Amino acid sequence: MKRTSRISELREIISSEKKRGRKIALVPTMGFLHRGHLSLIEQAKQTDAFVVLSIFVNPLQFGPNEDLSRYPRDLERDAHLVEEAGVDVVFHPSVEEMYPRPMLTFVEVGELDRVLCGSSRPGHFRGVATVVSKLFNIVQPDMAFFGQKDYQQYLIIERMVKDLSLPIEICPVPIVREEDGLAMSSRNIYLTAEQRLEALVLSKSLNEAERSIHGGQRSAREIERQIREKITLESHGVIDYVEVRDAGSLSDVTDIQSPVLLALAVKFGTTRLIDNKVVEVEQNV
Ligand code: AMP
Repeated sequence: MKRTSRISELREIISSEKKRGRKIALVPTMGFLHRGHLSLIEQAKQTDAFVVLSIFVNPLQFGPNEDLSRYPRDLERDAHLVEEAGVDVVFHPSVEEMYPRPMLTFVEVGELDRVLCGSSRPGHFRGVATVVSKLFNIVQPDMAFFGQKDYQQYLIIERMVKDLSLPIEICPVPIVREEDGLAMSSRNIYLTAEQRLEALVLSKSLNEAERSIHGGQRSAREIERQIREKITLESHGVIDYVEVRDAGSLSDVTDIQSPVLLALAVKFGTTRLIDNKVVEVEQNV
């Protein structure tokens, strides 16, 4: 496996692979890898493409009071993991390599940015869309893999690629969970043992809501109320949002008729966790 922190070197490596006719698959990450990331790599490997994994903790997508400086990092451990997983090249640029001068140019996201994590983390998705565009231009992949753990991010990137006519296939990958249901996240390491236990209420409340919808409940507000109530009763988590939205457009839903996204963000101490579930609705024929 190759490793580089230089854009120019990565471009050379990729261009020689392209000359040999290889397709290029990109897996963008912020590192401190877990099985969720490995599942993205597995999907990328299945395409038979040359797999590029990027590790970059992108300052542009963190707010002023967020966890940029303490975000967990362990490049050597990550490199070892991805080598075993069959990645062809790891790209781990410094902040100076990615942003050698103050940025004046950004990718604006529009209305998909005004809801859910976009409204609680102003500027976050603009930072994500901008860095992902830079990575797309550096790597020029044929396909790129994004986890549904960050469902809104996946939709935003898919839309960006369409709006900007980028010739890249965006491949979504299902959420990978711990055995007890907690969605895997690099940030789980921040949790105390007690918070880690309490955080199980997130996946449990989503599962319960899904059962409720399948049992005939069609009121989005009632589903939101049930999820909030369970989280409040069973944990000390502080709810940022719990929302039912259209799974394709993220628009408001009142009466659940088509696939919906159940999405939530909850803080345990200083750690903000997100989770979601897409629920299909059985149509009466
Ligand atoms: P991150 O390093 O947290 O920025 O995540 C990099 C990529 O891995 C993003 O596309 C995430 O959606 C994806 N990812 C993170 N956690 C999971 C998970 N538990 N299951 C599936 N994909 C994930």
